[in-house]
Amino acid sequence: MGNENTTTRDKEYLRALFVLKAHEEPVGPTELARCIDVSRVGALQKMRKLEFLGYGKYIPKKGLRLNEKALALVQKDVKRHHMVEKFLEDTLDMNSDEACDESSALDPHISEKFIKQLDKKLGDDLECQCGCCIEPYYDPEDLYNCHWYRKKFTLP
Ligand SMILES: [Zn+2]
Ligand SMILES: [Zn+2]
Repeated sequence: MGNENTTTRDKEYLRALFVLKAHEEPVGPTELARCIDVSRVGALQKMRKLEFLGYGKYIPKKGLRLNEKALALVQKDVKRHHMVEKFLEDTLDMNSDEACDESSALDPHISEKFIKQLDKKLGDDLECQCGCCIEPYYDPEDLYNCHWYRKKFTLP
């Protein structure tokens, strides 16, 4: 049940579930499939896997409800993406599109140590151009305007 079994794709599903507010009310596979553009069966299978990995509980006929562990992971991932992006823009003069792609590509290879140092370096300087999706405990609806979310998901 360790994080080591959580793939990049799993994390993408967790992010989609968060924006659908699965930490408040269970979200069903049809709704998830619409958001992330997969089949209903694919979405259901992934939900079962996420439950197995310890990210929530699947309630028959209702859907998956995310727990605190899932919530913490999603918020950390969103912050990581924006932090690395900002770093690439500032130090390598990448434009925001390039930085976004590179940040996604690098993500699985970035260590906790790197992120800690980066967090210290950026400090309060970090701002999300797309809204307020950096500080934890934001509302999922804030993410409707997040470039990263808009790129990957179909949002309400
Ligand atoms: Zn981005
Ligand atoms: Zn954003």
